[in-house]
Amino acid sequence: MKNETDQSLDPQDWESMRQLGHQMIDDLIDYWKGIRDEKIWKPIPQEVKKALETSIPENGEDPKKVYEDFKQNVFPYNKGNVHPRFFAWIQGTGTPLGTFADLLASGMNPNTTIGEHSAMYVDRQVVNWCKELMGFPSDASGILVSGGSMANITALAVARNSHGKGNIREKGLVGNGENLLLYCSTETHSCIQKAAEILGLGTDSVRMIPVNANFEMKVDLLEEQIQADLAAGLSPFAIVGTAGTVNTGAIDPLDELLEIAKKYKLWFHVDGAYGALARLDPIYASRLVALEEADSVAFDLHKWLYVPYEVGCTLIRDAKKHRDAFAFTPNYLLQEKRGLSGGPDPISHYGFELSRGFKALKIWMSLKEHGWKKYAQMIAQNNRQAEYLGRLVDSHAQLQLMAPVSMSITCFRMVQEGMSEEEIRDLNREILVRIQEEGIASPSSTILNGKYTLRVANVNQRTRFEDMDILVDEVLRIGNEILSKK
Ligand SMILES: *Cc1c(COP(=O)(O)O)cnc(C)c1O
Repeated sequence: MKNETDQSLDPQDWESMRQLGHQMIDDLIDYWKGIRDEKIWKPIPQEVKKALETSIPENGEDPKKVYEDFKQNVFPYNKGNVHPRFFAWIQGTGTPLGTFADLLASGMNPNTTIGEHSAMYVDRQVVNWCKELMGFPSDASGILVSGGSMANITALAVARNSHGKGNIREKGLVGNGENLLLYCSTETHSCIQKAAEILGLGTDSVRMIPVNANFEMKVDLLEEQIQADLAAGLSPFAIVGTAGTVNTGAIDPLDELLEIAKKYKLWFHVDGAYGALARLDPIYASRLVALEEADSVAFDLHKWLYVPYEVGCTLIRDAKKHRDAFAFTPNYLLQEKRGLSGGPDPISHYGFELSRGFKALKIWMSLKEHGWKKYAQMIAQNNRQAEYLGRLVDSHAQLQLMAPVSMSITCFRMVQEGMSEEEIRDLNREILVRIQEEGIASPSSTILNGKYTLRVANVNQRTRFEDMDILVDEVLRIGNEILSKK
């Protein structure tokens, strides 16, 4: 019997909450359906920012009112990566079913770390599917994490902890007494350096090897550096190869890195946060085969599987080493053979996090909805669109390609005879900001060999080839407007 003083956060009126839920779904469907005709980005008005700075509500209000607030102050000023012409950084689009899966996951709300319940098995099945996607053996292990950064540090923690006598968990790096070194290229994502700092290796222990004209690691310099470090009594322990660099989509020569790793008995990790899934595109598959033999790989599903934020995956070839790096059983997490306290090996034995959401469900439902072959087609489509953009750039005298098109990243800029490097930079900076402010498209920028460039990274399942024509036309229109007013 319900007591007068019993309190709960559930709605007073379930029917009105049902209606509100339906309304939210309707609004989302309308949003996605019409997104192509919307501006990709809008500036946030001052009064909206003010509304987002008020202090904590003391008393509650009707959920409908809360939702109205959301529709007024939050929904209209979205980042834009749901839009077909979003090409900034490397950010996936999400999908409707993926979104609803997140809603269901949140509604079930299982803490997916330990116990005998369905989410544990869905999570395990999805990790097994990830192994299949990467060509990893079925007895490898893996864990879903929040994204590529977490996936990389998880893998590097295993690499570090299984180095040498394998006693770093007990003794720490000081007790271990070796000066561990990690090798990657100058184009490696910043999260590798951050990981090295957090893992206690320090920035000085990250050897950044120069790249060639295609932004790929120079293998001969890598081997020279390893030899010099060994001669100096230091302890190389891991090579990080990148499958799809964040700047230009370059792929390090993974097969050669694998050979060197074997020769010097180093851990071979692949940061495939962006590009590992390009192995589903036949054009890139042959350059990514060495991935299958890596000791570990990190990749994102919120980039090239277009799953809503956030989810990445770490795979480790040697499941024992993976478990040995993290397994820990405090008294309050004892397992039983039966009941809720039974179930598969706790997921917390494979990573740092204890509480975990049910992020596996959106991958599970998405892969069931489309099958991996459809994703292979979508990834190939993004790559062909980037190549198409590269050809458009080549066909315009005012545009210049700044790096070979690799995977789905195209770097280019507008140039004009007689302009200095600073003037070219300022022109393209202004083009970048205006094309975003006018709500047309969202590329981003980077600096390559000291030169400012526009950067178009396409992991967008809504992009059409015609969007590349629009992008180029608008860059030229805006650029020529800026030049004519000089
Ligand atoms: C995106 C990316 C990362 C970081 O992944 P997050 O999901 O943003 O944490 C790491 N490495 C590469 C190559 C990336 O493209």
